Amino acid sequence: MTGGTSVLPTPAEAEALVRERVQPLAVESRPLESLAGAVLAQSVRSERDQPPFDRVTMDGVAFASQAWRAGRRRFRIAGTQAAGQPPLSLADPEECLEAMTGAMLPHGCDCIVPVELLRVEDGTAIIEDGVPVEPFLNVHTRGLDAREGDMLLARGTRLGAPELAVLASAGMPRAEVCSEPRIVIVATGDELVAPDQPIAAWQIRRSNSYALRGALTLRGYRRVAEDQLPDDPAVLAERLAAHLATHDVIVLTGGVSMGRYDHVPSVLRQLGVSEVFHKVAQRPGKPMWFGIGPAGQTVFGLPGNPVSSLVCMLRYVLPALAAMQAERVRSVEHVPLGAAFKVRPELAFFLPVQVEHSPTLGLVAMPRPTRGSGDFISLLGTDGFVELPPGPREFPSGHLAPLYRW
Ligand code: AMP
Ligand code: MG
Repeated sequence: MTGGTSVLPTPAEAEALVRERVQPLAVESRPLESLAGAVLAQSVRSERDQPPFDRVTMDGVAFASQAWRAGRRRFRIAGTQAAGQPPLSLADPEECLEAMTGAMLPHGCDCIVPVELLRVEDGTAIIEDGVPVEPFLNVHTRGLDAREGDMLLARGTRLGAPELAVLASAGMPRAEVCSEPRIVIVATGDELVAPDQPIAAWQIRRSNSYALRGALTLRGYRRVAEDQLPDDPAVLAERLAAHLATHDVIVLTGGVSMGRYDHVPSVLRQLGVSEVFHKVAQRPGKPMWFGIGPAGQTVFGLPGNPVSSLVCMLRYVLPALAAMQAERVRSVEHVPLGAAFKVRPELAFFLPVQVEHSPTLGLVAMPRPTRGSGDFISLLGTDGFVELPPGPREFPSGHLAPLYRW
C-alpha cells in the first residue's frame, strides 16, 4: 500500500501517469457513416480548391460588372445557369444569364445581382442605379476557403459534425480511425442489487454502473459491457481474468479502500496487473487504483462511492480513453467560481457545480457541494465539477477553475 498523503500523486500527476502508461489501440478503416465521435488516425488534405469553382451564392442574374459601370441598366436574359451544370458563356456583355445558388459562375460574368434587387420585363433584367454592383458580388471565389492539397484534418482529431462534412468533401467514403476500446464496467460489492430485483433493508441499488455507462455513451463509446461481482477474491479472480482476456479497459467500482472486504487491488496484482498508483491526493476519490494488465489492458479501480466513481471517470478514465485513441490533447474548459468556497482538506477538491450566467462575471460555476461522496442526490441539477487546489484555503468568487462536465 502506498504511504502517507505527501507521496500521493496529485490529480494532474495521476492523469499524466495514466496518459503515459496506456497502450494505443489498433487502427482500422471504417465507412464515413460510422465515424461520428471516432478519432482520426490519418491526416486529410483538401481534394480540390474549396470552393472548387467560383460559386454563385444568390439566385439572380450573372453579367459583366463592367457593362453596368459603363452605364448599362437593361440586360436581356440569354439563358439559365443551373447548379450542377457545366458553365455557360456570356457571348454578349450587353446580356445576362439567370444564375442559381450553387452554380458555377458563367464565363464572361463576374457578379451576381440577386432577384430581390432587380426587375424583369419581357425577358430583360433591369438593374437600377444604387445597386452595389462590383466584381465578385455574391460570388464565393474558387479556393477562398482552402487550396487543393491543404491539410484540413490532423491525425488525432475527434470527428464531430464539421469534420465529417470535410471528410465527405475530400471524397473520402472511408477513413482510418482508432478502433473503439472494448470496455467493461464491473461493480463490486455484496450489498449491491440491480434496479429490477427485490431489495432488502440492508442492501443498496447498484447505481454506479448506470452513471458510468451513461458518461461513456454520451461521449460515443458503444462497446461497453457490464458485470457485477461479490466481495469474494476467488470469484473476482476468475471473472476478472475472463474480462482481461476480452477487454481493453476494465473499470471496477468499489473494493479499493482499506476495508476487510476490499479485495480488488490484491486480486488485480495476483492476475499480473501491475499497479501504477493506488490513491490520489484528492477528495473525493482518494482510494482510486490504476494499473496496466499483462497484455497492456487499462485497469481502473474506482472507489465505490457514487460521487467518487463519477468524478474519477471524468478526470481519469475519459483521458485514458482519449490517450488510447491518440486523440490530440485539448485544453480543459475553465470557468470562474460564482461564489467563494472553502476547501478544508490538504487534498485537491472536486467540487460539483452548476454553470450559470452572471451579469458581472459571465459564465460562472456555482458551488453545489454534496454531503460527502455517498450523496449522489445532490448532483442532480449540476453540470459537472471544478477542480480546486489543496486546502486549507478559501477560494474567492472569480477563481478560475478547470471544469469537467458530466
Ligand atoms: P466501497 O468502495 O466498496 O467501500 O464502497 C463505498 C460505498 O459505495 C459503499 O457505501 C457502497 O455500498 C457504495 N457503492 C459501491 N458500489 C456501488 C454501486 N455500484 N452503486 C452504488 N453504490 C455503490
Ligand atoms: Mg465495497
